[in-house]
Amino acid sequence: MSALMGKAVVNFGPGIPWEMREYPVPSPKPGAMVLKISMASICGSDVHAYLGEFGGPKGVRQKPSILGHEFVGRVHELGEGVCTDTVGRRLEVGDRVLWSPSMLCGRCPSCLREVVPCPNRKEHQGTTSDDWPHFKGAFAEYYYLNPGQWVYKVPDVVPDSAAVYVDCAAATVAYALTKVDFPMGSWGLIQGAGGLGLCAAPMMKDRGARVIVVDKRAERLELARAFGADHTIDGTEYPTPESRIERVRELTKGVGPEVVLEVVAGAPEVVPEGLEMLAIGGTYLTVGLVGPYPVTIEMGPFINKGLRLIGSAQFKAATMADVLDLMERTIDKYPWDKVISHTFRLEDTEEAIKQAAAGKVVRAAVVMD
Ligand SMILES: [Zn+2]
Ligand SMILES: [Zn+2]
Repeated sequence: MSALMGKAVVNFGPGIPWEMREYPVPSPKPGAMVLKISMASICGSDVHAYLGEFGGPKGVRQKPSILGHEFVGRVHELGEGVCTDTVGRRLEVGDRVLWSPSMLCGRCPSCLREVVPCPNRKEHQGTTSDDWPHFKGAFAEYYYLNPGQWVYKVPDVVPDSAAVYVDCAAATVAYALTKVDFPMGSWGLIQGAGGLGLCAAPMMKDRGARVIVVDKRAERLELARAFGADHTIDGTEYPTPESRIERVRELTKGVGPEVVLEVVAGAPEVVPEGLEMLAIGGTYLTVGLVGPYPVTIEMGPFINKGLRLIGSAQFKAATMADVLDLMERTIDKYPWDKVISHTFRLEDTEEAIKQAAAGKVVRAAVVMD
């Protein structure tokens, strides 16, 4: 084991202040690698964990763990036998890479049929950061990547501030969109212009669709237009579902969008509204409403319009490569680096999470270098 030490921000459960700790940087076992993290972004699920919306009870001190699962960095040390990334490109110490914290099990019925989600998806090894190899989350200077975890070289033109949220924000929405078709001349509508919604706009454009984005925050809608939205609908200007549905009819010449994508957090009332906006035969794609959100659907119109409702979670290894390819091709066209709206130092990670919880940022990131 090397004498090098690395910093990590560890948490003990909701309601307990986070602490900065130092751990020895491990040497990788055969097939593994150690990565030096440059930037880590804060995902909605980190906020849920911080607030105790799932996980342990609030105020009860748990074993220390490192949160965070969206990161980018460089190869620090390669274990014996590792010389390429997941798609076979040569890897050397110092190469810029992004990677996935999770692994599919490979043996459940879903994995065997090559569909996701995998119900047995593993999030690294164990939960405590006091146990070797310590570096198991994103809010730290290093990360220990097990054999089999996906890792990709990042194209030079894609900055850290774009690569950092490929897994999970961008890949989650990219994978959801593989489940729908965009026939010639079709429209896609995105409910919610947060990180996922902004990413979805160029992805729909790349598939040939015209795009409408609905949100209530003017600055997010401006960003959505920079991300390729043909039209935006401001919920403060069109305050009722009826007025928004009417506006969508106008924009789509009475036809409606073939796809409505829901990427909102905690607003289940958007579902019936989105279903009503859809074109005949259209698909409602739901990604953001993870949580106990009951929704009432009027079945008559749903059946008579021949609609489809599809949920989507997780993604495949290939999705990450596809997102990186899209970013590389369109880095001059869309402001991929602007999804990260605020950056913080590693020691201010808890403050970054608080601001994300308060909705003050599009997406916050912690910068280590
Ligand atoms: Zn996430
Ligand atoms: Zn599986």
